[in-house]
Amino acid sequence: MAPRIVVLGRQGAGKGTQCARLVAEFGIVHVSTGDMLRAAVAAGTPLGQQAEAIMKAGGLVSDDIMNGIVAERLAEADVMEQGVLLDGFPRTSGQADALAAILDDQGVELDAAINIDVAIEEVTARMMARGREDDTEEAIAERLSLYEAQTAPLLEWFAGRGKLVVIDGLGEEDEVFARVREALGI
Ligand code: ADP
Repeated sequence: MAPRIVVLGRQGAGKGTQCARLVAEFGIVHVSTGDMLRAAVAAGTPLGQQAEAIMKAGGLVSDDIMNGIVAERLAEADVMEQGVLLDGFPRTSGQADALAAILDDQGVELDAAINIDVAIEEVTARMMARGREDDTEEAIAERLSLYEAQTAPLLEWFAGRGKLVVIDGLGEEDEVFARVREALGI
């Protein structure tokens, strides 16, 4: 059965790294909305042109746009067959509602929402060190404050549905991965 897993956590918590490990080990499809948007920017598509300035400033692309992109991606054959790790979505309550509706329409259930938990001071230091193009100090601060305001409340949303699993994201990559596997029972 194809698992459907939401991966939550502050920017810099290691979501991308842990998703890559899950992909390599279990062949689940990694759907990162950040990667999709960066690809659109690089390709200069209409979506990319719209998203570029918003991303540079650390803001959020509108729910309407994001919900449409994700609904299309989740309907593709690889996701239906191998399952999905949703990374970077949902980020707002509107996106969480949209995800529930998409899965409902497909007649499938979310297996779990895992929160890779790392404190703000630690993720800020990690992001400053990795030096991605949109990782300026101002943009990092903006993204983290949006996360606290808009995305952190989703932890309660998933908890209320019995889906939330919190994982300590401090420590070696291997240690965190072992915790992820244990939490998912895989
Ligand atoms: P980070 O986790 O560091 O914010 P991401 O790769 O997840 O990096 O996202 C990069 C940027 O793409 C975000 O700052 C935001 O502008 C945009 N983005 C990604 N996912 C979403 C989403 N679900 N809703 C709105 N904007 C998004």
